[in-house]
Amino acid sequence: MGWRTGGRLRWAAAVPFALVGLLGAPVGAGASAGTRAPVEQVAEPGAEGVLVPSYEAGLTPEDQKTQAFLAQNAVLEDIAAYASERIVLPQDIPLQAASCGEANAFWDPRAQDITFCYEYIEELAPLLSAQQTEGTAEERSAQLDQDLIGVTNEAVLHELGHALVNLYDLPVVGKEEDAADQLSALLLASGDERHVGYALSAITAYAALADAAANGEQPLQAYADEHSLDAQRFYNWVCWLYGSDPDQYAPVVETERNPDGILPPERAAQCPGEFRQMEKSWSPALKPYLKT
Ligand SMILES: [Zn+2]
Repeated sequence: MGWRTGGRLRWAAAVPFALVGLLGAPVGAGASAGTRAPVEQVAEPGAEGVLVPSYEAGLTPEDQKTQAFLAQNAVLEDIAAYASERIVLPQDIPLQAASCGEANAFWDPRAQDITFCYEYIEELAPLLSAQQTEGTAEERSAQLDQDLIGVTNEAVLHELGHALVNLYDLPVVGKEEDAADQLSALLLASGDERHVGYALSAITAYAALADAAANGEQPLQAYADEHSLDAQRFYNWVCWLYGSDPDQYAPVVETERNPDGILPPERAAQCPGEFRQMEKSWSPALKPYLKT
């Protein structure tokens, strides 16, 4: 099928070399190849909420391993700090990782908290691992760790989108699920190199999920799900990353001279406008300096 990417390396080859370096490098090794000015940090006075991270005890040995992985890498703490830099939260929001019995993440409007399920990591790990086709065992393992941290960022920021729609009573035209994806993409795509790397991990994960769906029987119920299909979420993320900086990401666009580009030109033409629209839609929740 046209949208199939054939794995990480083929589509990664379409993004600028600075990012390919990041994709292929062990965690933290790409730090010097920055292509963006660092975001100015502004001290925000006044009462403002924060995400309050915690790790509940995993209920299975596998969940306990995932718990240790997330806790040792301070993944939730890192997301909470990043969100505080870029988002105005109207109140403290508990953010807990937990065993849920399903691969999921969710905002609970009654409890007003966000839960990230250990099972989500465990479902994605083999799919992401299968995307790694090159490098030494250590490099592949480091890349997998980075991708798992990346998809955790993506999922938690998506749930934060639901939280903000709810708490600020933001008007959402279209699917709220797409709006939540947009907040996640907006925050990661406009971030520093590490967070752009997380956006690439999210794109890789959606490519893997879309491939898995294409290889199996897609039940009719999949089309009733409130989320867009994984292949659509893949294209949306590519579009928004491209739209965040069309010069930087020009190689992702398919053209006569660049037939390996993964984003069809018809969609690419709309992406800068889509990204600007996303910034406008989410501006009530964003720190004023987010504009990049
Ligand atoms: Zn959602």
